[in-house]
Amino acid sequence: MKNHQSPEISVVIPVFNEEDCLPKLFYRLLAVLETLGRSYEVIFVDDGSTDDSLDLLEAFCEDYHGKVRLVEFNGNYGQFNAICAGFEFARGKIAVTLDADLQNPPEEIPKLLELMDRGHDYVGGIRSNRKDSWMRRWSSRLNNYIREKITNIRITDQGCMLRAYSGSIIKAVVRSRERSVFVSALAYKFASNPAEVEVAHEGRSSGKSRYNYFNLMELNFDLITGFSLWPLQTLTLLGFGVFCTGFICLVALFLSAFLFQIQISSIGLFLLSLILVIGVLCTGLGLIGEYVGRIYHEVLRRPNFLIKRVVDGENEMPLREAK
Ligand code: UDP
Ligand code: MG
Repeated sequence: MKNHQSPEISVVIPVFNEEDCLPKLFYRLLAVLETLGRSYEVIFVDDGSTDDSLDLLEAFCEDYHGKVRLVEFNGNYGQFNAICAGFEFARGKIAVTLDADLQNPPEEIPKLLELMDRGHDYVGGIRSNRKDSWMRRWSSRLNNYIREKITNIRITDQGCMLRAYSGSIIKAVVRSRERSVFVSALAYKFASNPAEVEVAHEGRSSGKSRYNYFNLMELNFDLITGFSLWPLQTLTLLGFGVFCTGFICLVALFLSAFLFQIQISSIGLFLLSLILVIGVLCTGLGLIGEYVGRIYHEVLRRPNFLIKRVVDGENEMPLREAK
């Protein structure tokens, strides 16, 4: 494979302190890629490792010059930023992501490629027989449920990083330049023909997960706020609901006072006025939030649509993005 040529497949792997897993991962991965009979590149992104991971990666680059590339961060910026950086350098027609800790067996890659060859532009893995704690399994089920309801993004297993994406989707993801990117959700949004497939999952070959429940919650919060204005819209609706209720109660109070000559208690009047004010405030806050949300989405610079093909009678233009 020559350096300047685009390979067919780019494998992107984020690495943070994985010295024990890296040699095993690399040779298992190479064995799989070699049997495919397709050109490939492996892009490791070192996310500020403090162990010997970087030395190992440098050695892989030297031994497999042209096939292995290394992107080195100057600190720890997190798995998703590392994947995005890998995407920036990926030149393949298809990009495959997987974890460095061998939880995603490289031997499952051909399954993803088979579906990509059948015309899918995004293939997500679903970890069968997941080897994580039951708490983590159940919390991700709950997350999936909430996310699907709120964002319309139907990813069965959002935590599985064994995925394949078409080159054009990768470009769109890179172009979006989001601060906190949920790569797979973004890619799913751009995909026109997504698919999912069951893949094996293994226990961590060594070390332990960098994610605790707080990180995972943060990630899901990013996902929900990044892909929907639902929390703001709920606040607006809630505020409007409170205002309407207060208003109806107030009218009822005055009507009954007028019809039945009942004296209106000042406490009741005060409480109802308070409800009205709270309703107005919440509605106003929600509306301001809606504008802020729109500005936020604008700032993300996500392409609003992707053109798959333009047929103009003479040439077929390549896929491009548009804002
Ligand atoms: N990772 C990374 N930066 C981080 C944390 C993790 O690049 O700050 C990499 C890590 O080396 C592994 C992948 O992301 O390749 C998944 O990490 P981990 O196993 O901790 O996550 P889990 O499998 O528990 O979701
Ligand atoms: Mg892991």
